[in-house]
Amino acid sequence: MNITEHWINGRYFPAAGRTAPVTNPATGKVLGEVALATEDESNAAIAAATAAFPAWRDTSLTRRTQILFAFRELLNARKGEVAAIITSEHGKVLDDALGEVTRGQEVVEFACGIAHLLKGGYTENASTKVDVHSIRQPLGPVAIISPFNFPAMVPMWFFPIAIAAGNTVVIKPSEKDPTALNWIAELWKEAGLPDGVFNVLHGDKVAVDTLLTHPDIKAVSFVGSTPIAKYVYETATAHGKRVQSLGGAKNHMIVLPDADLDLAADAAVNAGFGSAGERCMAISALLAVGDIGDEFVAKIAARASSLRTGDGLRGCDMGPLVTAAHRDKVAGYIDAGEAAGATIVVDGRGVSPDSDGEGYFLGPTLFDKVSTDMSVYTDEIFGPVLSVLRVESYDQALEIINANPYGNGTAIFTNDGGAARRFENEVEVGMVGINVPVPVPMAYYSFGGWKNSLFGDTHAHGSEGVGFFTRGKVVTSRWLDPSHGGINLGFPQNA
Ligand code: NAD
Repeated sequence: MNITEHWINGRYFPAAGRTAPVTNPATGKVLGEVALATEDESNAAIAAATAAFPAWRDTSLTRRTQILFAFRELLNARKGEVAAIITSEHGKVLDDALGEVTRGQEVVEFACGIAHLLKGGYTENASTKVDVHSIRQPLGPVAIISPFNFPAMVPMWFFPIAIAAGNTVVIKPSEKDPTALNWIAELWKEAGLPDGVFNVLHGDKVAVDTLLTHPDIKAVSFVGSTPIAKYVYETATAHGKRVQSLGGAKNHMIVLPDADLDLAADAAVNAGFGSAGERCMAISALLAVGDIGDEFVAKIAARASSLRTGDGLRGCDMGPLVTAAHRDKVAGYIDAGEAAGATIVVDGRGVSPDSDGEGYFLGPTLFDKVSTDMSVYTDEIFGPVLSVLRVESYDQALEIINANPYGNGTAIFTNDGGAARRFENEVEVGMVGINVPVPVPMAYYSFGGWKNSLFGDTHAHGSEGVGFFTRGKVVTSRWLDPSHGGINLGFPQNA
């Protein structure tokens, strides 16, 4: 039996405890087992990161940067290998898997500039012959806990910057698709990263709880569903840690009457059904403004019906959902939407997938005339289900978005620059697209939502990521000089 083991201190760590099956969602076949860490195994990973920290913290920026560049080169040359692992365990089509690795690689490339990003300020003669400078230092061992839907990219939002800044990491990937992180761990070793700087701890709540409460872990970056994100934030902050905890989403796209409806329909289909809707930035609610509803729905329906659903290795447009239980949950939302009176325009429940075996498939599904009280609207479905809500005006559309408890991503489709500018200013969402349906920021900007989509103060990567993984220190210095003599017990003042 193939077992995905922990990677601790630069080598595989045979687990003595529990395991869980890892399945190929396109076939339903069990690929192997993943270790589920005990508390002792979790402590071993934390101990490795703690032991590696002093030397890594003191490793020169030149050397750290060389290792990052080497990692980037290896990743770029061999990313097809990890994309294939992602497709086999997650189910997303191969092109999409390659796309997520490439977006993660952008953060590695950003982190290659760490020497510049860590530069502090210097003030000469702040007071007479007194100089002041600022530095940023690493925090120590940090934990990264990631979701199933981006097994490589989401961890890569964090670890390149954490490591480049001099921290050591323990990563707890999703137990549903854990193997990509082991491949990445081996790549780090080949790139010359010292043992213990990058550790992979597989597991479930036992591993997570140990990371959230262990005194040696200084910071936690979490990404997952909102209830767990809230729990992680509250638990880890109560244990004195710095926390950024990214949660779920319900992303809206407004289409104004002046928009090009063909481009908007293409965008809606790509953003709604890409990765079978299992993206935190997927569009799930379309707000059709004015009298465009019939035409817009027809255009989306035509596109959705032409998509090929099946095994991600067979050149299909859309793969399976991650587990049978998740497929059934999403199908349950489709049943509920229909029962609540929404019009089902394209029904994915009867899909005939291009695959062998018993995969967890649902075809693209399109609802029209959805209202804000239906569960198909209120809940994060995380599947290939698009809902059209017909609204009379921009104001009504904005009100719906701003009343939603989530605030991850949103988009507006229009040719009216003034309307787009107003939307950018008024919408209460962290990432906004203007004629861009999935506005995932580039690595040098920061990724993060508002409201129930993020708990904490800092977003991922970009300058906020550098700030999160370092702490500031300001040094005031003077060197022996006769003018500094004398006794004065007063509070220091400028002179
Ligand atoms: P999840 O919350 O089930 O799991 C996320 C992580 O938490 C996993 O590593 C899992 O092992 C762990 N976990 C699960 N239950 C736990 C518990 N009771 N206690 C402690 N840890 C626990 O999420 P998922 O299903 O893997 O991922 C999908 C969710 O992630 C969606 O809600 C999606 O919107 C969200 N997501 C958000 C972003 C973002 O940037 N905001 C990005 C990707 C995914």
